[in-house]
Amino acid sequence: MTRVLVVEDEPQIVRALVINLKARKYEVDAAPDGATALRMAAARHPDVVVLDLGLPDMDGVEVIKGLRGWTRVPILVLSARQTSDEKVEALDAGADDYVTKPFGMDELLARLRAAVRRAEPTGPTGDTVIVETPGFTVDLAAKKVNREGRDVRLTPTEWHLLEVLVRNTGRLVSQKQLLQEVWGPSYGTETNYLRVYMAQLRRKLEADPSHPRHFVTEPGMGYRFEP
Ligand code: CA
Repeated sequence: MTRVLVVEDEPQIVRALVINLKARKYEVDAAPDGATALRMAAARHPDVVVLDLGLPDMDGVEVIKGLRGWTRVPILVLSARQTSDEKVEALDAGADDYVTKPFGMDELLARLRAAVRRAEPTGPTGDTVIVETPGFTVDLAAKKVNREGRDVRLTPTEWHLLEVLVRNTGRLVSQKQLLQEVWGPSYGTETNYLRVYMAQLRRKLEADPSHPRHFVTEPGMGYRFEP
């Protein structure tokens, strides 16, 4: 059974989420503020977190940072705020996706399912399971990246993006293909997601993130991984 942690201070939204999630056989915990959310996440180990950014005790982005200190659990953000800065900040902090309020329950549930699916371990991989570059090594089977002798911590979304690029080493992967493979078939135009996540991958893996040599942008087209 999939366990969901709902972090939201508006009782009507909590009630709607709990009813809809339980009807679909999810197990649901609800936290009305950030401190409770962090405590509950540690105690209950949810499979996915639905997180409102506007909480009474702290900014939702702080909750994301707190969670990312120890867990890769998928985080789906609820944002009432219209500015894309807020969303980018949340994605940057390690959220996997966001839904803008007011949201349709069907859309939220679809994104929730996709976030959980992305986090699930996939089956055995193809022939080449280890890809080496001068600066880091990617082990596709173990789902690990090693840089200078240390494991690099990647979120599920970062890993998925890296995996698609590495499996297509040397080939241009279009923006649309990346969005659909990593975020799901209904995506295709959200190129801001790609910019945010490519920046994160470069920051974690490139020697000089502002002059990337492994994660190459093909302007207006897509991205290419060069070992
Ligand atoms: Ca709120």
